[in-house]
Amino acid sequence: MTFASLGLSEDIVRAVTERGYTEPTPIQKQAIPAVLNGGDLLAGAQTGTGKTAGFTLPILHRLSDKSVKGPSSGRPPIRALILTPTRELAAQVEESVREYGKYLKLSSMVMFGGVSINPQITRLRSRVDILVATPGRLLDHVQQGTLDLTKIEILVLDEADRMLDMGFIRDIKKILALLPAKRQNLLFSATFSDEIKALADGLLDNPALIEV
Ligand code: AMP
Repeated sequence: MTFASLGLSEDIVRAVTERGYTEPTPIQKQAIPAVLNGGDLLAGAQTGTGKTAGFTLPILHRLSDKSVKGPSSGRPPIRALILTPTRELAAQVEESVREYGKYLKLSSMVMFGGVSINPQITRLRSRVDILVATPGRLLDHVQQGTLDLTKIEILVLDEADRMLDMGFIRDIKKILALLPAKRQNLLFSATFSDEIKALADGLLDNPALIEV
């Protein structure tokens, strides 16, 4: 099985091939077609399984498929939001988005706390298609009125179990309340406690289920 046969565009397959991947991992074989379909997804996956490419590749495909060609007036809205528990993971995920999307006309941004908020505010004045963020700093921006999440089409909760362990459930609920009702939701978690199941129940609509 190849990345192309999973339905990904040539520009994405080229970037992945240059990264040195010859074959999709088991989670990628399942997650990529499911996400391309547009439905919700509940995935049980540890780090090291290739889960990051499992959601970033089909998200890049979907957003570039529908992206407006040519110059548009005004700043386009943020279309995908990826939430992660830590700044290290956020940076890593956004790095992957940039690398896999290097032949696409999409723009990404990473946002986390512990650093000055001002450069982030400046960055938000230009185009961001895909935002990778930790929950606390994201809400700081919302409070400052520098972030509009009302046009989000795809939401990812990455390492959702770690986010709950770190006490982010209230922040996540606040963020969910800011998103439009009609959107695609992806939840990745290594473990499935009752708390995760409750979060998934409330968030996901008839999700595809994947476990590797
Ligand atoms: P992740 O589980 O997303 O943190 O990925 C773990 C590691 O696997 C990362 O270093 C990726 O670059 C690598 N990786 C992801 N997909 C593939 C693939 N299809 N073939 C080889 N390596 C991969």
